[in-house]
Amino acid sequence: MPEYEAAAPPELSSDAETEQRFRDRAQAFGIEQRTIERMALSPSRALACVEEARRRGTGPGLAVHMFDAGDDPSQGRKVRGPNLYAESSCMECGGDRFVVVDTRAPVQSAWMTEHKITASADEIEVYAPCPACGAEV
Ligand SMILES: [Zn+2]
Repeated sequence: MPEYEAAAPPELSSDAETEQRFRDRAQAFGIEQRTIERMALSPSRALACVEEARRRGTGPGLAVHMFDAGDDPSQGRKVRGPNLYAESSCMECGGDRFVVVDTRAPVQSAWMTEHKITASADEIEVYAPCPACGAEV
């Protein structure tokens, strides 16, 4: 047997194993074949998404959603939204991070009139980041 027919390098075979494991789990989980092909391009992240959805006891939709959102559950939990650890007892805004700076009258547009929609009679509140604790502008 010629030397170059040696087994594939370990990293390649492990990638192939990960992909196969992902394909098996994804199929058993009920993910559409078309979606499996798409997710198989990042097999280790795709597998982590499937495992996380199974661990949470949800359907395959969550696995696909996490994958499409760029999540990698194997890298720990992704924090979303505002910084939950930031001080939120601001006297100015009460922790909302935004304050009302103005109100304006609703505008009745031609499009709304055309579609028989009447603008609200109430003023519309205009918000800005809290000057005491909000993002700088
Ligand atoms: Zn504030």
